[in-house]
Amino acid sequence: MIDLRSDTVTRPTEAMLEAMAIAPVGDDVWGDDPSVRALEADVADRAGFAAAAFFPTATQSNLTALLVHCGRGDEYIAGQLSHIYHDEGGGAAVLGGIQPQPLCQDSLGRMALEDIAGAIKADDIHHARTRLITLENTFHGKVMPQDYISTVTGLAAERGLSSHLDGARLFNALVATGKSLAELCAGFDSVTLCFSKGLGAPVGAILLGGERFITSARRWRKTLGGGMRQSGLLAAACRYALDHHVERLADDHRHARLLGEWLARVPGISVEGQATNMVYINVPQPNCAPLEAWLAERDILVAVRPRTRMVTHLDIGEADVRRVASEIGAWCEATT
Ligand SMILES: *Cc1c(COP(=O)(O)O)cnc(C)c1O
Repeated sequence: MIDLRSDTVTRPTEAMLEAMAIAPVGDDVWGDDPSVRALEADVADRAGFAAAAFFPTATQSNLTALLVHCGRGDEYIAGQLSHIYHDEGGGAAVLGGIQPQPLCQDSLGRMALEDIAGAIKADDIHHARTRLITLENTFHGKVMPQDYISTVTGLAAERGLSSHLDGARLFNALVATGKSLAELCAGFDSVTLCFSKGLGAPVGAILLGGERFITSARRWRKTLGGGMRQSGLLAAACRYALDHHVERLADDHRHARLLGEWLARVPGISVEGQATNMVYINVPQPNCAPLEAWLAERDILVAVRPRTRMVTHLDIGEADVRRVASEIGAWCEATT
């Protein structure tokens, strides 16, 4: 199977499973798991934060950040298409009585500065209290420009708001830009990192923040059911991914670039763009289901939509993307 639906579909490698098998563990709800504690301390240190907490998923890490930064009747500003607003089941509203203030984004995921400033509510009983601004990097595979990020985190600080980064794919930005984790996290009050995307761990995310923030996050994590016991098994997979799967993200980026270039040469295919490990192509609606079925018959999994995303990862090689481009080419030839 060549599965380009997401970079979440990777299986743990033999070496990762071995690292998991020998990890020292304890009950992490009691604070006893050495593998979890070491991972939290190490990532916090590298990212320039005082503390960190290990989570099962980036969704739960993001939700926890919203619950710590905002209370009932508060609101957060987020991009209209940002994952934290658009793709997490409305968790903040469901569980926290927190209202989102979504704003339009450009193709790099940026909200206009005037829109952000205009959305920050005055202290008035008619309004929800604006507490937080959230950004996402990478956004749809694209690296968010660092000067924009520092302007927004600066604006948040100036207006007395907190700022949170959904960095589920921040390691892709790290490899694409050559910046350090600390540089990419600078200015934010909290950051989510995910290990089960391009890094290839089966489970795991980290929430970064200050001491008090993380103490409160641990309380919410327990409430949300995210207090795990011998989770050092999972932390060991994440540790392994940090040590062995970061630099290799450059291969995913190269494969996505090649896939984008090859698809651009296929008559009838319109490549919208390629960035880090993602390629977007536009497919007319009536062609979506037939193309998806054609590819599936050839053991290629792509979720074909009018705006189709293909994602490269650990289990995809150059020969795989070559085959995908050629099968899509063959389909176009057969149907025109
Ligand atoms: C995948 C993703 C998440 C959620 O990650 P899970 O670990 O699957 O819950 C959050 N934000 C972004 C930007 C993502 O891509």
